[in-house]
Amino acid sequence: MSADALYDLAGKGVWVAGHGGMVGNAISRRLAAEPLGELITATSAEVDLRRQAATEAFVSDVRPDAIVLAAAKVGGIEANRTRQADFLYDNLMIAANVVEAAQRSGVERVLLLGSSCVYPREAPQPIRESSLLTGPLEPTNEGYAIAKIAALELGKMYRRQHGLDAISLMPTNLYGPHDNYDPVSSHVMAALIRKAHEARVAGAAQMVVWGTGTPRREFLHVDDLAEASVVALRHYTGEEHLNVGCGEDVEIRQLAATICRVVGFEGELVFDTSKPDGMPRKLLDVTRVSELGWQPRISLEEGIADAYRWFLDNVAESG
Ligand code: GDP
Repeated sequence: MSADALYDLAGKGVWVAGHGGMVGNAISRRLAAEPLGELITATSAEVDLRRQAATEAFVSDVRPDAIVLAAAKVGGIEANRTRQADFLYDNLMIAANVVEAAQRSGVERVLLLGSSCVYPREAPQPIRESSLLTGPLEPTNEGYAIAKIAALELGKMYRRQHGLDAISLMPTNLYGPHDNYDPVSSHVMAALIRKAHEARVAGAAQMVVWGTGTPRREFLHVDDLAEASVVALRHYTGEEHLNVGCGEDVEIRQLAATICRVVGFEGELVFDTSKPDGMPRKLLDVTRVSELGWQPRISLEEGIADAYRWFLDNVAESG
């Protein structure tokens, strides 16, 4: 495939911004298999991407050929709902600073990573890229969504005005190694893996699932997203963003049951309807990314088993 790539990664200096997070970590691991010139990383202590001067100084100093912007403030439904200002501010600043710095330093390619929450709450399902900005957003993650829409528009407008080769991917709900397992701020997958594990270890009769259990979500293992990112970096250019998902969704209650099976918890599921459901459904139409030759490889059950192994090795004892 690399012979006919429109962007050859061989010898390139690629900065993965946010390499310590789940997405940045997976993309860094995947890029390590490429013949890059250099895989560039920086911790948030080294460069705070919310600060313009620091971001511009870093980029003009290291001069990457390409940037993958995986740095973001992310969280599950409760963290997003209760800290909208933080999610809006941090993500807006990170995107604006990195895109402007890329433009100033003559970076060849920028890959921006968004989220399926950019789409209107009532978007027709499966959601096509063209549904963007066609209706009101889901209120529980409006701050985050507006920042991610602004990021995508920045990429588009810098391309039009300045010729910056910025592309955007909109992944569905992601999970896998290095996910956030904090009980308050995690997304549903990590939250339920942790709850099922702790319920099994404690010999509990029940485990609590937030909401009604009826919302539907699509889940993609982060290694599949990492592969899609490399495919897009090499083979895609254009101002329209690309959805990335597995093309199938499950009810939250089904997800909980599958997690319990993998983890070995055999008790009862109890639904706490004082907690929000959020979007009723969020399934992406993945026709366009499929046309680039990318397909997800990791099934939901395999992916959960992989995430659970990582949880056992890295979180279970300490947490
Ligand atoms: P969302 O996709 O932005 O809504 O974010 P989440 O991944 O946090 O939540 C997805 C769905 O899972 C929502 O309907 C939640 O109410 C539901 N859910 C069920 N149990 C939990 C839990 O323990 N934690 C989280 N974060 N969500 C849960």
